[in-house]
Amino acid sequence: MPDATLQSLFPRQPRRIWRVYLLILVGGLLLSTAFYVFGIRPLDDRVRMLHAERIAHDFGDVGRAFDGIVARHLGLAEQVASRTAIRQRQADFLQGRESLDDLAAFALPKLADALKANAEIVGIVRHDPSGRRLFAVGEEIPAALSAACRPGEEDRARPLPLLRTEGQRRFAYCSPIRDDRHGLVGFDVVVADDVAVQALVDTHTGEVIVYALGLDGGELAFRPAVGGDAAMRAVRRADASTPGLTVLRAPTRVPGLSLCSVVDQARFFAPQREQSRLLLLTLAVAAAAILALSVVLMRPIIRSLLDEQHLIEMASFDRLTGLLNWGTFHRVLDHEFARAQRYRRPLSLIMFDIDHFKRVNDTYGHPVGDEVLRAIGRTCSGLFRQTDSWARYGGEEFMAVLPETQEPYAESLADRLRQHIAANPIATAAGMLSVTVSAGVLSCRPGVDGLDKVAIVAEVDKALYASKEAGRNRVTVAVLTGRTDTSPPG
Ligand code: GH3
Ligand code: MG
Ligand code: MG
Repeated sequence: MPDATLQSLFPRQPRRIWRVYLLILVGGLLLSTAFYVFGIRPLDDRVRMLHAERIAHDFGDVGRAFDGIVARHLGLAEQVASRTAIRQRQADFLQGRESLDDLAAFALPKLADALKANAEIVGIVRHDPSGRRLFAVGEEIPAALSAACRPGEEDRARPLPLLRTEGQRRFAYCSPIRDDRHGLVGFDVVVADDVAVQALVDTHTGEVIVYALGLDGGELAFRPAVGGDAAMRAVRRADASTPGLTVLRAPTRVPGLSLCSVVDQARFFAPQREQSRLLLLTLAVAAAAILALSVVLMRPIIRSLLDEQHLIEMASFDRLTGLLNWGTFHRVLDHEFARAQRYRRPLSLIMFDIDHFKRVNDTYGHPVGDEVLRAIGRTCSGLFRQTDSWARYGGEEFMAVLPETQEPYAESLADRLRQHIAANPIATAAGMLSVTVSAGVLSCRPGVDGLDKVAIVAEVDKALYASKEAGRNRVTVAVLTGRTDTSPPG
């Protein structure tokens, strides 16, 4: 058959091709979503976590570097206090064996040397155990520091709060001087400059992470030479919830002073966000390419598959009513009949025929007759049980096979159908038409032997004929209990 003729007989259904593309599109979207939800997003979260760990690690590093500076200052302070010759003469002084002038004359050049040797140390004040100032070298040191440094039992130097005078920041340390024989013989207040700490803050501060040292009151003691004002405001407020900024804060060994870092999240994660965006874009492009390719390459394949399916449907179903056609019905019947026989199960058939249908055709024309057939097909479909199979068996004859069904149900179904058709005129182009049908019902009891399909079809046909004979618009029931054993029509 030429292709054109075939196409006119079985027109293609382009809508169904689009359904396949839609399916591919939905599949692609689902796949992309799954890829994002289970791939890209967890990866993104993981990288963010690693970044957060790195930030915490760097913060720890800067903290350790600061501790290193303080430890160095403390070491220098202890070195000054540990000069044995001065310590001994100070003990002598306390016991009145030496004058303050002599002690100062001996100690001051040595302390001045210590200052010269360690550029960071800018001032030392020596005290007696009661806190009285004895002598000092280097920068002027406020008396308040002497009061703050009253050594107790501890024999190691300790940091004092940061010293802030106009334009100056100084780290001060309290360093006790002990002697094995005399115990506490005095203490030093040693003051170091801020150069190393400022350099620490400056060198570690970068584009996205800013380091600073803040005081308890929220004031900033050290801020980097560079670094955004927003970051500094966040540190001052110690506000970890500033949008886009993460603030970390940790106390240091210097009382009242804490180390802070501010991370600009947006800039910090910018490269990663860029990467994720690129990945998503690639995914979208790949999905679109797959869709486009499937449209272009698979179109003929999908078409022929759909055509094939369409042809199978055309060959299996009646085009007018959508019910099974004669051939398919017989295949179903073969199967159901064999099953009923094999497992000794009941089976029923219903056959019905429209009464005086020729008159409908003759009076209103064939198209109107077709409308009636279609309407009756719909009525059959409405009464379907899932396991029942309805067919348009001939011109205006319909047939159903009802597996696992005995005559009471089969009869009631046939009669409901008959009554429904009789009671509901059909809307057609020629107006509302009332038709009736005559039906035959055949039931095979379970375990009836020696039957064949031809025989039962002949029996149901006979029952239908009996209904016609008896005046139409009625149902006749036949029951098979043996080889040709038919109970009288009901
Ligand atoms: P009865 O009550 O004895 O069944 O009378 P009837 O007129 O229905 O019986 P008959 O078998 O003489 O007529 C059947 C008619 O069905 C003949 C035919 O024109 C019509 N027919 C068969 N197939 C179709 C079809 O597909 N469309 C239409 N419109 N009519 C059909
Ligand atoms: Mg007929
Ligand atoms: Mg008829």
